[in-house]
Amino acid sequence: MTMALAAGGIAGDFASQVEAESHANLMACLQCKKCTSGCPVAAMADVKPHEIVRMVQFGQRDELLASKMLWQCTSCQTCATRCPQKVSVAALNDGLRRMSLGAKAPSKSAVVTFNDIFMRAVRRRGRMNEAGLMASFKLRTLRLFQDMGKLPMMLWKGKMPLFQSAAPGRSEREAMFKRAAQARKGGQS
Ligand code: SF4
Ligand code: SF4
Repeated sequence: MTMALAAGGIAGDFASQVEAESHANLMACLQCKKCTSGCPVAAMADVKPHEIVRMVQFGQRDELLASKMLWQCTSCQTCATRCPQKVSVAALNDGLRRMSLGAKAPSKSAVVTFNDIFMRAVRRRGRMNEAGLMASFKLRTLRLFQDMGKLPMMLWKGKMPLFQSAAPGRSEREAMFKRAAQARKGGQS
């Protein structure tokens, strides 16, 4: 007889929620660390990929949702490809990112801010304005002088046009974002 571990049976509500949000087979993890040994960002991560799985199993919700690694993950899928148990830490991270946006203590990673500015620009304008993105990012993160040495050359090379018109299709984009929000609500209910 084979027995399957159920997320909620050991780790409680948090693991069940994460499993429902990510569809990652997290209770099958052996802690073999093959995910971590192939992950391109593990060396600088505050929480390694195999530790993410363990923290979900142990119900360490607040620590995990505040982790920078959730947003540093590049979604390269190396962990999912290497895992002998078909656990996808990449899918887990996607689900945890969505959950962290409504968390009491969200991640302090600047990627969250970048992502928010990027998606607002896509929704409003349909294309990126690099100068506007950089200005918003610097103001919101107070990294006012970081990388400023590169600015003259980028302007000179035409890599950062100061003005760009919006792409057509604003109403279609708006409808698309609303459909995505509704689909997400439907998935949660
Ligand atoms: S490779 Fe798979 S089984 Fe091994 S630690 Fe990572 S998630 Fe767990
Ligand atoms: S998907 Fe994320 S966690 Fe997995 S190997 Fe790539 S960067 Fe690491």
